Amino acid sequence: MAFLTEKKKMYTARILNFNDHVPYYTYFRNGAIIVNSQGKIDSIGAWKAKDGTIFVNGDEFQIENLKIIDFGDDLIIPGFVETHIHLTHHGFPISNEKLDEWLQLINEYAESRFMFTKEESASKFEARIRRLTYSFIDYLFSHGITSAAIYGPYNLEAYKIVWEVFTNEFGTAPRWILGLTIVSDKEAQMPFPVPSVKDIPQLLCQSNLDNSSAVFSFAPRSVWSCSDDLLQGITEILDGKYFVQSHLGETTWVREQLKKQGRDESDIKILEDTGILKAMKWGIFAHGVIFNDEEFQTINRYRNKLGFSHTPISESKTQGFGHYLNELDIKSTESIFNLEKYKNNHILWSLGVDEPWYYPVSNVLKYAKKIHQSHDTHSNAFWLYYYTLGGAAVAGLKQGQGSFDVGKFADFLVLDWTRITETETIDEMNSQDEEAYLMYKLTSVPTNKFIVKTFLEGKQVFGRDSSYA
Ligand SMILES: [Zn+2]
Repeated sequence: MAFLTEKKKMYTARILNFNDHVPYYTYFRNGAIIVNSQGKIDSIGAWKAKDGTIFVNGDEFQIENLKIIDFGDDLIIPGFVETHIHLTHHGFPISNEKLDEWLQLINEYAESRFMFTKEESASKFEARIRRLTYSFIDYLFSHGITSAAIYGPYNLEAYKIVWEVFTNEFGTAPRWILGLTIVSDKEAQMPFPVPSVKDIPQLLCQSNLDNSSAVFSFAPRSVWSCSDDLLQGITEILDGKYFVQSHLGETTWVREQLKKQGRDESDIKILEDTGILKAMKWGIFAHGVIFNDEEFQTINRYRNKLGFSHTPISESKTQGFGHYLNELDIKSTESIFNLEKYKNNHILWSLGVDEPWYYPVSNVLKYAKKIHQSHDTHSNAFWLYYYTLGGAAVAGLKQGQGSFDVGKFADFLVLDWTRITETETIDEMNSQDEEAYLMYKLTSVPTNKFIVKTFLEGKQVFGRDSSYA
């Protein structure tokens, strides 16, 4: 019999890890992660060597059984878990468009990157769809995202192609919650065929829904724009097996718009009344920021299988969505949600970028911090936690992702220490303490500036020279 034992890998560096309790992190100045051949973590912690034995957090490993990869001074952190991002919004060719027309187009045909006329078939565009999907995945990895809840295309054929790319090549663990975006007939006045509820069972039969890195998810685009029939149709298929993602109307701006139309139903209530909350396996809902007590009670009944993603544009009292094209605008938002209420009700929440054309995904932490005007070390760690382990909890992926724990997947980022310690913003710092400095820096500067390598299940999926310009 062949020699089958593969050496475990030992990655050494500074290591920042996250956990569920104050102060939400642990930091190892001489840290190590031991990764087995399945890409899972066998041990994590501070390490030392003695007489050919490596000790990591009390575990012992013989040095000849390890392949040691030393990242020196650099920093290793868990991969980010993004809980609300639109695939088809990525990289829209804005340069050739007039801005107003472009925004109009986005508003009307938000998932329009996969636009076909009724006469055209997706297969004609297969190469383009693949290229876009790979480009989106490159974007995720270069920004440190190793798991995500994604709004995918409306077009069923396009969805299948995207699904195949995510499933076949990027990991073995469930990690890409891929939404088939669904709209009501009324909203579906688009120059391409959109899936109807009756198409869905056929899709489910064709997809390998278990043991796949892509997780099928229904994504009724926004609850307030779906007909009861559509929501009920989804409920009938859910059967406790499938994830749901949707935009909620519980924001000041949407509520005002709905009131003008004579509607004042709560979306979370609609989701309960149509049976979706009961029938879904897991739910990830974006933008629910202004729940009243009754709505919090509804959520509470299902809190073991749903979470909320708050994005920098979740709550605008003045402009609505679509007016945050630069950092100046973000200052005028009032995107503050009631953290205490979420905490007191033990309701899961985390952060999402939503539409990455507005700002790079690596600015999410910076904006969350700015919007909430929090600047101390504790709250800096808090935001990092909510984009890693907290994100995994919201996405229903906490068992395998979000932090370095024995048995979880080795999804991690290597951050260039030289870049982290550049002094461009150091004047705002009060503390020279390394941990405080790190927390401050990682939440103040776009994080992709520091990321030089991204690992998924112990394999490198993104890398660049640490001295890149
Ligand atoms: Zn969105």
